[in-house]
Amino acid sequence: MIIMEKVRGILIGRMQPVHNGHMQIINKVLDEVDEVIIGIGSAQLSHELKDPFTAGERVVMMSQALADAGVDPSRYYIIPMQDINFNAIWVSHVKMLTPPFSVVYSGNSLVKQLFSEEGFEVRQPPLYDRLHLSGTEVRRRILEDDNWQELVPKATADVLAEINGIERLKNLSVKEISDI
Ligand code: NAD
Repeated sequence: MIIMEKVRGILIGRMQPVHNGHMQIINKVLDEVDEVIIGIGSAQLSHELKDPFTAGERVVMMSQALADAGVDPSRYYIIPMQDINFNAIWVSHVKMLTPPFSVVYSGNSLVKQLFSEEGFEVRQPPLYDRLHLSGTEVRRRILEDDNWQELVPKATADVLAEINGIERLKNLSVKEISDI
């Protein structure tokens, strides 16, 4: 009997917040591999202008968005991962936290560099409307009361409503400007 080994891919992102670009990459990854590990990066950060949401809040955005999209839950793992100060051993740190994987999906040059140095196959996902589909653009639109909802899955908007996320981001921006 031949037992086929599962091919697992990993995608790591800050997901501040989860947006439609992340969801499109995950769809593409699941076309190519059996299972995807979704790393919620910089898990220790929250309540900062660039990193407003906690790891737990980002986990809910992602798991609910995948459920809404009808993705089979046996095909993904969502794992929060804290940063460590040592880039040279970051890949080992990620491996310690995750199921074994062989393919890394990233458009982030440092992430690509560190994993390829450790011998992983690194694939660059296509860019999906990167001008608009980025965490920076979503956060900018939230602060400027522009239409951010069109850039994110409904689950992200639901979490923001539940945690008063818009108010949080606006308060953070006022505080940081007055600190200057
Ligand atoms: P991100 O949320 O900006 O992006 C996640 C991934 O999605 C990236 O590969 C990005 O290229 C891709 N992506 C985003 N929008 C896209 C779009 N519209 N179309 C196609 N692809 C798109 O997160 P990030 O900044 O790449 O996250 C990397 C994480 O790894 C961070 O949390 C970082 O701190 C962590 N990291 C930590 C260390 C360390 O601790 N030493 C080292 C390297 C990286």
